[in-house]
Amino acid sequence: MTFSHLDLDEFADRAGVDLRRAFGELAALYARVDARIEATTKNLNLPCHKGCDACCRESVFLTTLEFLYVWDQVQKTFDDNAFQEVIARGLALYQQHRVIIEALEEAHDDPTKRLHWAMQLKFDCPFLSIEGACRVYPVRELYGRMFGCSFNSQGGVYGCSIVGKHLAEQEVTLVSADSWSRVLQRLPLTNMRQVYPYFIHHLYGL
Ligand code: SF4
Ligand code: SF4
Repeated sequence: MTFSHLDLDEFADRAGVDLRRAFGELAALYARVDARIEATTKNLNLPCHKGCDACCRESVFLTTLEFLYVWDQVQKTFDDNAFQEVIARGLALYQQHRVIIEALEEAHDDPTKRLHWAMQLKFDCPFLSIEGACRVYPVRELYGRMFGCSFNSQGGVYGCSIVGKHLAEQEVTLVSADSWSRVLQRLPLTNMRQVYPYFIHHLYGL
């Protein structure tokens, strides 16, 4: 099967959303987050680097608006082979993890259940290259920007064990992942979070 580009503006229009305006607001938010992270981490010598990709082999959650922002970039910049391949990977991942992804969907208003299912969901992000680089890095989701360089809701490091060990003996001030997540939720199309395969399935698998 060959997949085609979709009219994302029309998709958002049906929900009464001016997508280009929402993208502008999202880009401005990302710029503010990136600037705050740069300011708070520049002297910490964090271990994150290109090719260190364990955090992209778990499960990353994002809102519909963040997904559409990524997908708009995919439609503009991926060649046809890469475009077909990322959809095929997304659809295959959806089928492979369908039970958990649908359980997450059903538990949309139950944070405890969602956490239970989220902990069991692990897959290689379809945007990860063979070299371990993110193919949509400039437009990647909010949680991807904050992973390894922010605090979680318990005041601990929102990140992997490598970052946790690196920062264990240091006194640090990091941005709050929850606070920025709430700022994001002021934008349209941000009232639910799911994983990339879920969104790809809903665009191309139905
Ligand atoms: S958060 Fe952890 S796994 Fe991800 S890039 Fe940083 S050190 Fe590597
Ligand atoms: S989109 Fe990029 S940063 Fe986000 S999980 Fe996938 S590979 Fe990692």
